[in-house]
Amino acid sequence: MTQICEGVYFIQGRDEMIPDSHVYIIGKSESKDLSMVDAGLVGKGGYKIAYLKKLGIDIKDIKRIIMTHTHMDHIGCLGEILKQMPWSELWVHTHEAVQLEDGDERTVYGMEMFRNMCQAQYNLKPGAFKFQVHKKLNGDERLEIGGMIWEVIHIPGHSAGSIALYERADNILIPGDVVYADYAIGRFDLHGADPAKLHESLFRLAELEVDVLLPGHNRIMNQVPEGYIRATAEQWGPYLA
Ligand SMILES: [Zn+2]
Ligand SMILES: [Zn+2]
Repeated sequence: MTQICEGVYFIQGRDEMIPDSHVYIIGKSESKDLSMVDAGLVGKGGYKIAYLKKLGIDIKDIKRIIMTHTHMDHIGCLGEILKQMPWSELWVHTHEAVQLEDGDERTVYGMEMFRNMCQAQYNLKPGAFKFQVHKKLNGDERLEIGGMIWEVIHIPGHSAGSIALYERADNILIPGDVVYADYAIGRFDLHGADPAKLHESLFRLAELEVDVLLPGHNRIMNQVPEGYIRATAEQWGPYLA
């Protein structure tokens, strides 16, 4: 786990057969109003909480968990984490929040094959991913949390309710699985995915000034070259038409 800058911590995912998403903790420590962005794969909550404690972060200060989206590799250990932080609220884009509250797990698993595989691998029962959502995000919010301002941007395409969090003062972007380092983008074949919308979402992100890119997987970028997201969007254009 490393501090990216004041108000942003990074906990690296520990992939196994299925990836484990990175987790980011956002908010200035003196505010005592921290947010966790994403949770991770089933069984991957323990080491993250242990890291936080080791760093001297009081988990009582983590007031909410904001999901970039609700795929298995991001929400798998949410239940484990909420057990240790039951005071924490859950904030999710409305397109996936309604499904979570209904216990509709199609987005969580993405496709039937993964549902069968994950349920067998992790001994998950149907309904394992039913959660109460405390705040349904629309994608036009300006969140004043933790002594910082994070803009919520709805970027559908990888999933229906994917969001990015953007901190304009320092040009920090947390795009979930929509865009990664190395000109990679999220897959667009799972439940709720839409290649054309993903293309639009990439161009939407390309309008932002981004110096620090903190994606859901793989390496993070501390010095994003100018035009990086636009170049990525253009490169993928033929596949997203
Ligand atoms: Zn995903
Ligand atoms: Zn992911």
